[in-house]
Amino acid sequence: MKPMRLTQKIRIFPTLEQEEVLWKLSEKCRLIYNFALAERRDAYRHGIKGVTYRKQQNDLPIIKKHYPEYSWVYSKVLQYVLRTLAADYESFFALRKNGHADARLPRFKGKQYFTTMVYNQSGFKLEHGKVSFSHNYNDLPLEFAIPAKFFFDDKKVKQVAISEQNKRYFVTITYEMEEPLFMDNGRYQAIDLGITHIITAVNSQGKFLVVNNQRPDKYWNQKIAKIQARRDRCKKFSNKWKFFNRIKRKYERKRDDQLKDFQHKLSTKVVNNTKANTLIVGELQVKAMAQSTKVPNFMRSGLNRATQSTGTLGRFVQFLTYKSKRVGKRLIEFDERNTSRECYMCGKLHYMPLWERVMNCECGNVIARDKNSCVVLMKRFLSQNAKWTGYQVFLDNLRHTAKGKTKVPSPIRGYGSEDSQEAPSVRVG
Ligand SMILES: [Zn+2]
Repeated sequence: MKPMRLTQKIRIFPTLEQEEVLWKLSEKCRLIYNFALAERRDAYRHGIKGVTYRKQQNDLPIIKKHYPEYSWVYSKVLQYVLRTLAADYESFFALRKNGHADARLPRFKGKQYFTTMVYNQSGFKLEHGKVSFSHNYNDLPLEFAIPAKFFFDDKKVKQVAISEQNKRYFVTITYEMEEPLFMDNGRYQAIDLGITHIITAVNSQGKFLVVNNQRPDKYWNQKIAKIQARRDRCKKFSNKWKFFNRIKRKYERKRDDQLKDFQHKLSTKVVNNTKANTLIVGELQVKAMAQSTKVPNFMRSGLNRATQSTGTLGRFVQFLTYKSKRVGKRLIEFDERNTSRECYMCGKLHYMPLWERVMNCECGNVIARDKNSCVVLMKRFLSQNAKWTGYQVFLDNLRHTAKGKTKVPSPIRGYGSEDSQEAPSVRVG
């Protein structure tokens, strides 16, 4: 068993009084950041050495002596602000060193900026569905409810941060848990990620699973486009313009939340509802590249959308990865070059532009494009897996299900347990 680090972001609902305290504290953090940044910039400009995190941290007590209001903030939180600045600087220098001439020095934070407050190791308390934070601004407890579905072992929580986004407040809890040992149980699931069918999967027993993508973004993007058009008819930054802009941003948030929510739920189900301990997905980078060279010019707009959703698919893969780890499974990213072009039965490479949804091979193989992809992926994985002996069994099972179909089988809706998954349509015996 080895520890793995996980984070959970949870929305909190401060009262008006608490909100005021949060802003007072955050303001002090922001000023410390700006002061420390000014000092570092000065040093950088004049070639002065020795303005380090340690130096600035040692200065904190002196600052507090002269300006007692900095003691409002829990002392380790202030230290963490300096550490963040140090990290910002380090990454700036690293970027410069690696030839990124456009890398910019960290910037001063403006008045509207809520500085995230990080309570590392201490200063917070988690218990009975609530979290509380130390501060010295006044006697008001900074205590927030946490929904019962989130359970954290107090001793395993390493850090809690308070942040703000668009007037919404969040705590981000970083905790450790023992990563269960992985065991290869001889069962595998290959997954093709796509846009229409977010998931087309086949397991090593030869059963398919198809899940339609939910595209809340389509609905919201329409609304966003409309409101943007109305906004752009107003004078820029006028009150009306700001009004429409606020609505636009609200829609964008809803779109992003819904997409994320869908991906969260689906990834949990995918990981939990299969008996396979090993999940295999294609490398998205390879996928994006293959698509960009295969698409003719008149399909460009479609391509842009395709590569965009590769971004959200990337997040989906991240979800799958850590959710697998959490339960002792693993996710492997595997080279998927040509998986959509290669006939899984005879190996012939076909011309398969994006709009071609069915592979129709001379060898008699007629199969939905996505299904073929994940079968090829599985084949490649199994053929490299010395432990697996059922390679031929896998292919034999498939032949029964895939051969002889003439149109795209309708996707199986919903997502039952592996055993309740229907094998797709006809079986030719
Ligand atoms: Zn073929």
